[in-house]
Amino acid sequence: MSPTRQRRLDELQARIRLCRQCLNAGYDIYPRPIFSGGLSSRIMLIGQAPGITEKEAGRPFNAGSGTRLFQWLAQAGIDETWYRETQYLTAVTKCYPGRAKSGNGDRVPSRTEQELCRPFLNAEITLVNPQLILPVGRLAIGLFFPSNQPLNEIIGTEKLVDGRWMVPLPHSSGASRWHQTPENRQHIQEAIQLIAKRFQEIKF
Ligand code: SF4
Repeated sequence: MSPTRQRRLDELQARIRLCRQCLNAGYDIYPRPIFSGGLSSRIMLIGQAPGITEKEAGRPFNAGSGTRLFQWLAQAGIDETWYRETQYLTAVTKCYPGRAKSGNGDRVPSRTEQELCRPFLNAEITLVNPQLILPVGRLAIGLFFPSNQPLNEIIGTEKLVDGRWMVPLPHSSGASRWHQTPENRQHIQEAIQLIAKRFQEIKF
């Protein structure tokens, strides 16, 4: 492991932890960036943004959405404890965005917030250099797949981008209805099979 890369990742993560850009831009976020992982990670999960339980626990993919997500990954042979201790978890925007005005769930981060946080995600990907990226939910999927393509045409497919496999998964929270229909569950099973295949190929 290169000491220079390690130092650059440490510096990047320190900058992320201190970041207040969205707050300074007038967004009422909770300024506590939530992510975890290090240089030896070979898999990177990218979610939309921390939810209220992630904000409270300070842990990515916590509670319901994490439970369902790691049930899917367990079917691909990936153990949650092992994953959390050794692999990377991050998000399109890393601070809790607060409740939606409608009162229905958490606010979807604005385009401006996404753009403010994007350089951090780009730098995480470049420095960590994962072999497999799992974008979870529409916002994260939209970074790598056409944003106007329906989810049922994307989930269950994979794509090689800059030498890394991308296997998208839908938002795993209970508030999302997408993963609850039999047809879409079949797409998720296809995604799980792809993840299992790529996981087997990775040399840890
Ligand atoms: S969401 Fe990202 S850009 Fe916005 S304050 Fe948090 S770390 Fe900074």
